[in-house]
Order: sequence, then C-alpha cells, then structure tokens
Amino acid sequence: MLQFFVAGNIDTYGAILYRRAIWRICAAGATAGAAKDLIMKEGIRNKTMNSKIIDFHTHAFPDFLAEKAVTKLAEHSGEYKPFHMGSIKELLASMDGAGVDKSLVANIATKPEQIASILKWSGEIRSDRILPLASFYPNNPNWQSDVEAIKKSGFRGIKLHPLYQNFFIDDENLFDIYDRLQTEEIFILFHAGYDIAFGKQDNAAPFRIAKILKEFPRLTIIASHMGSWKDWDNVLALLSGKNLYFDTSFIHEIEPALRDKILSKHNDEFFLFGSDSPWLSQKQQIDFIDGLNISSDYKEKIFYKNGENFLRKYYDPLSSR
Ligand SMILES: [Zn+2]
Repeated sequence: MLQFFVAGNIDTYGAILYRRAIWRICAAGATAGAAKDLIMKEGIRNKTMNSKIIDFHTHAFPDFLAEKAVTKLAEHSGEYKPFHMGSIKELLASMDGAGVDKSLVANIATKPEQIASILKWSGEIRSDRILPLASFYPNNPNWQSDVEAIKKSGFRGIKLHPLYQNFFIDDENLFDIYDRLQTEEIFILFHAGYDIAFGKQDNAAPFRIAKILKEFPRLTIIASHMGSWKDWDNVLALLSGKNLYFDTSFIHEIEPALRDKILSKHNDEFFLFGSDSPWLSQKQQIDFIDGLNISSDYKEKIFYKNGENFLRKYYDPLSSR
C-alpha cells in the first residue's frame, strides 16, 4: 500500500497523501511517530514539510557580478563545481526545486571598502524568502561605525570568513568586536575549519572556536560545515555538546561513524540546515539528511524547527522587515 503513496503525485497532493498514509499506517497498529519514520524512510516528504525548510548557508551575488565572481571562485574550489552561477534568481529557482522556503545569504567583504555596497545590496534583496547576512571586515579601524550601520539597516547577523578575510578567529585584538556583537545581539556565521582554497591553514580551527565560546558565552555563533570543515575529529572532541550552532553543509563528507557520534553528542537543537549553495546542491543536501538514520523529529529540527526558533529570536516577526 505504501508504494501507492511513494508513486503518487507528492507535489500536488503531498499534504493529503502524507496524512492519509499516516492514518493508514496508524490504523494498522503503528504509532504516529513510527508511521512518520516509515514514511520519511520511504522517501515521502509532503509539500507542507518541504516548504518549511530553512537554509542557513547560501551565497549569492549582484546580477552584474554573479557569473564573474562564481567563475573566479570556482578556479580554487577543486572538485566542487557550482550548481548555478550565483544570482538571486538562480538561488530562488534552486530553493523552489528543493522545497526551501527561506535562505540566509552570506556575503564576504574581502576589503573594508566593500562593506557599504554589500550592505546596500543586502537591503535591496531582502525579502520573505531571502535573508541576507551583513558583511563585516574585522581588521578595520572603523569597525565600530560598521556595526552601527549594520544595526541601523536592521541586520542581526554577519558572516565572517577567517581565511578570505585573513584573521585568526581567536586573535585577542578581535575581542572588543566580539564583546560588542555579543552586547548588540548580532550573531556570527563563521566559516569554520579548513577551506579548499587555503590548504592546511587553521585560522578557523575548532580549538580557536572553543576559546571564543569560553570568553563570550552569550555570543551566538554558527560554526559552518558541521562545526569545522575536514576537522571533524576535533569538532567531536572540542565543540560537540557546547553552546553553539552547527550548519549541516558538507555533512555528507564526514565518515559515517564519526558523523553519528557528532549527531548524538551535540544538542539536537543546535543544528541548522545549511547547503553552501551554489557549491553544493540544496536538493542533494536535503536528500542526504532525509536518508540519515535519525528520527523524523530530529530531521524536522534540522530542517526548520531549530531554524524557526533561531529566526524568531533574530528576525521577529518571521517575515521581511
Ligand atoms: Zn559558504
């Protein structure tokens, strides 16, 4: 019987079929939780659930720049070829195809002079579905006025990339900045771990992130790429179980036993779905998490429940400003 629902027109009648499938399985004696697990396992996702997915890690560029920027970045992205050329239009198409409702868009200023124009563009693209993060350049004597400008524009989060922005996460010269961000309740999405374009440089290593957590316990940090790209032994040892979020981008690269340890040791309320689109496919990252052997409740937390709670705190109400 289940096959009918698998083959059915999930997109059009997904919500109804999904509920019917649950009723049917429950009527046959399973609990609602077990029915949901079974359905997730069989690959049925209903439209209602899909439409709630929130992606905390995407990239996009202004139209005039997108193709050029993505082509240039792709020269250093090794095996990771972009799934689209980085415009907002293409990001929205990817979201529609994957069933993503909202995406946070991370921008990285590689020079302080870029901050104002990125902020302006971020204001222009902001919508119900596109939630841009402001950019910020740490080694900049004018950083205080940048924080003011970010606040004034209504942004509550910034992206920092210690490798592209050439700083060490735990440099004590940055502590005044972290202190101010903590006070202003501005969250940081850090690129965390190694980066394919920078070899073994450890500017954003787990032990450095752990130091910041200790110094700034109220600072909200999202460590991207499951805590630190390609340094997942140290994520398990030094970050799992601590008070910070992990975005899930590149989760498919973690060796399964280690991945499962991180998933069970870290608080399940501190995972946020992230794809790193266009460098990975939103759809493929969703399918990968869908296929994990964790409960459907856990998956719902990753896909949208934790994200909704997060956004409620930082973007209340849950719509554009
Ligand atoms: Zn990224």
